[in-house]
Amino acid sequence: MLGLMQEHPLLISHLLDFAARYHGDTEIVSRRVEGDIHRTTYGAARQRAAQCAHALAALGIGQQERVGTLAWNGYRHFELYYGVSGSGRILHTLNPRLHPQQIAWIVNHADDRAVCFDLSFVPIVKAIAAQCSGVKHWIALCAPDALPADLAGLPGLASYEALLNAQPGDITWPVFDEHTASSLCYTSGTTGNPKGVLYSHRSTVLHAYAAALPDVMNLSARDSVLPVVPMFHVNAWGIPYAAALTGAKLVFPGPALDGKSLYELMQAEGVTLAAGVPTVWMGLLNHLRDNHLRLPALQRTIIGGAAAAPAMIRAFEDEFGIHVLHAWGMTEMSPLGTLCSLKNKHLALDKDAQFGVQVKQGRPIFGVDVRVVDGNGTDLPWDGKTAGNLLVRGPWIASDYFRNDGPSPLQDGWFPTGDVVTIDADGFMQITDRTKDVIKSGGEWISSIELENIAMAHPDVAMAACIARPDPKWDERPLLIVVRREGSSLDRDSLLRFYDGKVAKWMIPDDVVFVPSIPLGATGKMLKNRLREQFAQAGQTASG
Ligand code: ADP
Repeated sequence: MLGLMQEHPLLISHLLDFAARYHGDTEIVSRRVEGDIHRTTYGAARQRAAQCAHALAALGIGQQERVGTLAWNGYRHFELYYGVSGSGRILHTLNPRLHPQQIAWIVNHADDRAVCFDLSFVPIVKAIAAQCSGVKHWIALCAPDALPADLAGLPGLASYEALLNAQPGDITWPVFDEHTASSLCYTSGTTGNPKGVLYSHRSTVLHAYAAALPDVMNLSARDSVLPVVPMFHVNAWGIPYAAALTGAKLVFPGPALDGKSLYELMQAEGVTLAAGVPTVWMGLLNHLRDNHLRLPALQRTIIGGAAAAPAMIRAFEDEFGIHVLHAWGMTEMSPLGTLCSLKNKHLALDKDAQFGVQVKQGRPIFGVDVRVVDGNGTDLPWDGKTAGNLLVRGPWIASDYFRNDGPSPLQDGWFPTGDVVTIDADGFMQITDRTKDVIKSGGEWISSIELENIAMAHPDVAMAACIARPDPKWDERPLLIVVRREGSSLDRDSLLRFYDGKVAKWMIPDDVVFVPSIPLGATGKMLKNRLREQFAQAGQTASG
């Protein structure tokens, strides 16, 4: 054949090389575990990622071996993203919010050879080290003089800074097949044992291109991006890669995810884009309201990981002039699947109609194919009304789980998401539920998310979860669990009356339980299975 494009593998190291070469003085700002604000640049980060790669080699950690991290969002974690994957090893981000027993299980399942940890996680390290004999190197992300004395005796205990200091800051990254594994992240395991999702260099770079697109994150060298979503939760939705690909400034919040700390960092660093799950945004909104503050630089926030209640989207848009992009994805999808950017024709609609589109989880990004099917796998119409199971496929979607001995999760090559959705004629997808959360009442399905969204629009409601309660006549009926806003004395009947005219009468929850707080899982989502165990007794009457 005459003439064809060059063969260049898509490798993660190229992202950092690009950022260091063309945006070498662009800043990476981190709030550290130590409490101070640390400033570095893409240029310096490349040098330290190179030192990190050399240090791993010096420790004898081989190609494709796993290097675990227990770390907040910060510059050292960023260096590990590139130093580990760029050198052909596999970065395994561990979720420190899981129970130590579960973390130990994951470390052993992944067969991690080293674990790098922020000092906040010393108690976890102490709790799991004895059970994780495969880990030959426990690396504390600190200076040598900050190494906690009580960790002495841990196999291969080292200070990250000491390891780096011993190495040169230049490197020619190895070149290998783009299908090589780069990183590993376990799902939070709300159902059964956690499952490992193994990303490749190719899938990560393609996902980074997609994330940067105008109708996705719209990232550029003029942005200052703050991922509130942790780097241990699906690679902070790919932001550490997409930011390097575009030369955007990165702002890392470290462990301080409360409204006040986020506000101060966003204000000081001119953050234009932030991304996180709904529960974090609640803290920020409350802080802004209580202190009559605004964030003039912040143009847009991406809310995903769980449904963003329309009331929250409105608050950002109408009270603070911050545009909300509702996004949907999964650990198994790297994670981006859909994002809700309006089309030209929506701009002619009135505000309410536009809002009706904006509350949906959005339309697929190029690279993600979707189908909505019934229980037999038959395709359902894209009419915005018919709900069914969502299937996906694409180059950054898992083909199987890491070291899975069970059957493949795929159905005819498609990955079943476990989400129940509608899709409209324009391809906008709306999640009505996760399969396991849907409420089946008298043969009909009731969307728990829809009922929660209505409760969240009530001014006296701080948080709401809707679960199925077994019912002798209808199989299941909706039960609403509510955290009142501080100082409110909202009662059951007035909250249930709030549903009148908003949904069909038979969908209105049977009862309300008021609770001081709703349990959240390791990724900040409401733990509905816990609520079901606690409250979903058939015939149980609840009151507030
Ligand atoms: P886990 O499955 O372990 O909770 P993921 O972060 O991979 O972790 O969760 C993916 C799931 O989160 C999706 O399948 C979906 O049910 C839910 N989800 C993600 N984004 C949204 C959203 N914008 N609206 C509603 N649900 C969402």
